[in-house]
Amino acid sequence: MPAYPNGLRFERIVVPTPYRIGPANVYAFPDEPVTLFDCGPNTPATETALMLGLEGAGIRPEQIGRIVISHAHPDHYGMAPRLQEISGCQILVGERDLPKLTDRSMLYATGRLLLHAGMPVEELVDMGERERKLGDLRPSIEGAAPLSGGARLRFEGFELEVLHLPGHTAGHICLFHRESGVLFSGDTLLLDVSPNPLIEPDPMDPTERRQSLVEYMASLDRLSELPLSTVFTGHGEPIEDPHALIEDMRRHHRERTTALAALLDDGGKTAWQLAGELFPSLEGFDNFLAVSEVVAHIDLLIAHGLAESDDRNGVAYHRRSS
Ligand SMILES: [Zn+2]
Repeated sequence: MPAYPNGLRFERIVVPTPYRIGPANVYAFPDEPVTLFDCGPNTPATETALMLGLEGAGIRPEQIGRIVISHAHPDHYGMAPRLQEISGCQILVGERDLPKLTDRSMLYATGRLLLHAGMPVEELVDMGERERKLGDLRPSIEGAAPLSGGARLRFEGFELEVLHLPGHTAGHICLFHRESGVLFSGDTLLLDVSPNPLIEPDPMDPTERRQSLVEYMASLDRLSELPLSTVFTGHGEPIEDPHALIEDMRRHHRERTTALAALLDDGGKTAWQLAGELFPSLEGFDNFLAVSEVVAHIDLLIAHGLAESDDRNGVAYHRRSS
């Protein structure tokens, strides 16, 4: 097990997921109280991989005292009820993600937002069907407790700061070990892919859409000011040069925003139409990602005064007339 300054000890356990992103990372902290940061999806393959990984880290599942969930996506929290059944552990999640763990109406609210962005209803139904085929990936978690930014997770020998860094989800949290500069980033920073700015209802008011990329850009600003050394991510290998990656990410979003601005005209287009122009010939789940990308980047254009939206058969966006 790698050792870091000031007593930080943990093991990375890689578990499979049924999602295209591939395997997810679970971080196991063996010091009291024995803690997992994320726990993988609710599938038999994950349960097997996780149990073997815990054994390798010298942890018996019944010793787990708490599970901290980086964000309320099923590839990161699905195994939590099963582990709680075994250990009676506490489950903690970022405050603004807590409603998503128990409230299925959030899924319907997302559907409404997609229809509003111009996604055809057949496309939405297909998306639901595909998810159902994967099984019960969103078990309801009762009794989870909220964690806010600034909280500290104490362990025997060290502590981790909770950073609330919204963007990928509203309540996304990262854990920071300031003495070593090690960050556990969940899906806020990933090595090879840019975390998707997904269309998501505001958990505090599900009739409203959250501005995921506007929030994410602010989170990148905060991260760029932290003394980061190695970042351990929710998927894939650790990031050894996080500040360079944060710069790349900013550039990527600026370039995409510029590309989108060039597609806007004075007549108005829905996000769905723009997604078709920016990413031709996509299918299935990719359409959800594409339309999310468009809406997120248009939020940035609107924030900079370069686009406007109005309501014509869904939200249409056009160039801002000056
Ligand atoms: Zn993920």
